[in-house]
Amino acid sequence: MSVRVAVTGAAGRMGRGLIAGVLSDPALDLSGATVRPGSPHDGHDAGRLVGLESAGVDLCGDRTQAFEGAQVIVAFTPPHVCLVDVRDAVARGIPVVVGSTGWEGDERARLDALAERAAVVLAPNFSVGVWVLADLVARAGALLPDFDAELVELHHRHKVDAPSGTALMLAEAVAGARDVDLDSVGVFERRGAVGPRPGGGIGVQSLRGGDATGEHTVMLLGEGERVELTHRTSSRAAFVSGALRSAKWVVGRPAGLYSLGDVLGG
Ligand code: NAD
Repeated sequence: MSVRVAVTGAAGRMGRGLIAGVLSDPALDLSGATVRPGSPHDGHDAGRLVGLESAGVDLCGDRTQAFEGAQVIVAFTPPHVCLVDVRDAVARGIPVVVGSTGWEGDERARLDALAERAAVVLAPNFSVGVWVLADLVARAGALLPDFDAELVELHHRHKVDAPSGTALMLAEAVAGARDVDLDSVGVFERRGAVGPRPGGGIGVQSLRGGDATGEHTVMLLGEGERVELTHRTSSRAAFVSGALRSAKWVVGRPAGLYSLGDVLGG
């Protein structure tokens, strides 16, 4: 039996990749797909949207209708939209895979609260390679406690949040390994007479341009040497694959907030 998946934000860059991924996976069935209310895609066939044969599923501005019959929801929507996706899914006892980044204010706390009522897999980056990178970065950060840590990330010109959720996760990995609080030691901007670099800071810089799907480099800089750990994506396929693997994994799980590590490890 295939797992019935509804994708939210279906007309977005990730949404289109997810629709194509679901339609080409025999273990998955597309049961619904949302678009922004008033979208010109509303009512059009989801398969046609991504250049495939008709999927027999209409893109829909109404979440209630799109979630009908779904066993799992995959949400890569702006955080304030994603919270409504998750709220409505949780109310029906449907688990959710969340890829959204750029959480602000109390949005993350609200997501955490919803995850007490249904299973939610949350990852700022669903590629297996970045999950490995985070592990390597934590180890290197701990082994080289006196080295200066600097992160650089590059994303396409349309990305709306900075730093990327992945960069924040990697910076947290270094901070956690050094037992320091990123909110206290993170340096997210340098301009003007900033003076010499204070020891112990973790710098994060964001580059934006073109169609880059995501690159992250963590540098650990010492006297006369430096370590660089880099991950580059060349398409969104890596995110789609991790998200759909998570969708299969999360069906039938008890309520709670899960990570990609839980999916890959269990
Ligand atoms: P995008 O802007 O291309 O797509 C978002 C889509 O959501 C748009 O099509 C928009 O119209 C739609 N939307 C807005 N309101 C809606 C509503 N009420 N109902 C249905 N759809 C609605 O952005 P993107 O590049 O696809 O990225 C989406 C999110 O996923 C971002 O937060 C991004 O950072 C994140 N992302 C995560 C990963 C990961 O692996 N976790 C990878 C890539 C992107």
